[in-house]
Formats: sequence, C-alpha cells, structure tokens
Amino acid sequence: MSYAHRLEGKRRLRLKDFDAGEDAGLKRGEAEEKTARLIEELVELQELLYAVQMQSVLVILQGRDTSGKDGTIRHVAGPLNSQSCSVASFKVPTDEELAHDFLWRVHAQTPLTGNIKIFNRSHYEDVLVVRVHELAPREVWSSRYEHINAFERLLADSSTIILKFCLHISKDEQKKRLLNRETDPIKSWKLSVGDWKEREYWDGYTKAYEDAINRCSTKHAPWFIVPADKKWFRNLAVAETLRDALMPYRERWLEKLEEVGRERKKEIEGYRQGHNHSV
Ligand code: ADP
Repeated sequence: MSYAHRLEGKRRLRLKDFDAGEDAGLKRGEAEEKTARLIEELVELQELLYAVQMQSVLVILQGRDTSGKDGTIRHVAGPLNSQSCSVASFKVPTDEELAHDFLWRVHAQTPLTGNIKIFNRSHYEDVLVVRVHELAPREVWSSRYEHINAFERLLADSSTIILKFCLHISKDEQKKRLLNRETDPIKSWKLSVGDWKEREYWDGYTKAYEDAINRCSTKHAPWFIVPADKKWFRNLAVAETLRDALMPYRERWLEKLEEVGRERKKEIEGYRQGHNHSV
C-alpha cells in the first residue's frame, strides 16, 4: 500500500478530506525500520540513476510553516550521496529575480541528468504566498497554473521524473510545533513572529493549496499529499514514494549498465590485443 496519496488529473480535492494524523496503524519503531530499508534501496537507485545518465529526478517539497520540509530533507535525502543529490531553497525573491519571469530562478535550479534535486519551496510559492498576500494581481497569479503545467511538461519531456509533495499538517499540530520552538534552544533560531501571523491566513492557504493541487496534478508531475502530523510517518511516506517512483526503472538501468560494461570490456580487450607485448 502507498502511504502518501497520489493525485493526477484534474480533480476537486479538499484538504480537509485527508487526515493529517494518519499513520496506517503503524508504531513508530516499525515505521522507522521500514523507512531505513526504503532508504537503503533509494541509495542503490540513486547510484544507478547517476551511473546510467538517462534521467534526472526533481522532488518538490511544499507545506505550511513547520510542516517538516527541513526535517524531510534531513531524514530522507540526508543519507543519499551528496555528489549527485542537492537542495535548492526558494526564499523571498531578490530584486534581480523579480525583474524576470517567475520561473527564471526555478529553471536555473533544475537537476542535471543523473542527479536528484530537492526543492525546498518552489515555483508553487508564486501561486501560494503570492496569492494569499496579494503580492501580485489576480490576473497575474491566476495565469501561472498554466505556465507551471507547461514548464513541468517541458522538464518531463526532458527526462525529468517529477514528484511533488504537499506535507499536510493540522492547525493543532502547527501550534504545538511553534510553541515547541520557544522552549527548545536548538530550534529557537527558527522562531519568527511571522509564523504566528501566517496562521491567520490558514484558510487562505488551504484554498491556495487546493487550487494548486487540483490544477497542477498531472501524470508526468503528480502531487502527493503526505500526512505529516507524525514526523516518522511523513518520512516513511516520502521515502516510499521516491522508492516506488524509481524502482520501475531499475531493470532498464541495469540492462543499460550491462550493455555499457560489455562495450567497455570489448574496447579494453581490443586494446590489450594491440599492445600484447606491453600490458
Ligand atoms: P523556510 O522555507 O525555512 O520557511 P524562510 O523562513 O527564509 O525559510 O522563508 C522563506 C520565505 O520566502 C517564506 O515565507 C516564503 O513564503 C517566501 N517566498 C518563497 N518564494 C516566494 C515568492 N515567490 N514570493 C514571495 N515570497 C516567497
């Protein structure tokens, strides 16, 4: 079974229909063991992805403040080989970025062939925070869904495997996490009055997320809703989704690598025969 909810094709989902506290009846220890096994598989898949140089992977992480974007990166991407996996974080745009179209800064960060790129926030901010805070007129942000679909289509047509995660937390859990930041000295650097202010826009964000997901869920770039109130379940769901997305390519990648191996061996044999006296 899949722990994250996969969405593709136009739909009319409501976030409230998804239980943020879902855990599939698992205990924490059990879930963590499963996650560790999935990550081992992912490490192998990453190596193959890099070795064959046929595709790239783009992972988009979105979610409200405290939903666990950083934690997901630490737990799920942390064990991957950093030579071919990296993170791009999208903050408030700079003047230079604002002087371009909204996809300019995003396109520049897309993954190289053979690599995995994780977006901590993304071009979806341009139909989320921008919409909720009216940072651009309605006609500007509302035209962006189509641009996003076309952009993601371009990436998919260029051999990018795209997975978009909405880390779904409840309002109560967010409150707990914000309060926790006030008592945990290690988390205090994340304290911001802005996060409390953003809570006032909870319903606006709900609507904006629903529209982004409903309008931009496609077969080549599906959204996944991840129940994220339990951090260990969130990690499991994301790890499983990644593993499941890459596993179908494994056979093909191995065949390709065997083929490359055979060709290289032939070249080496040819070389040895020509230089029999010296090697
Ligand atoms: P974190 O991602 O850990 O919350 P910050 O606290 O620096 O990091 O927050 C980044 C901020 O940048 C968020 O409030 C986000 O909404 C904002 N942001 C990202 N992209 C855009 C954008 N295109 N327009 C306006 N604000 C944006």
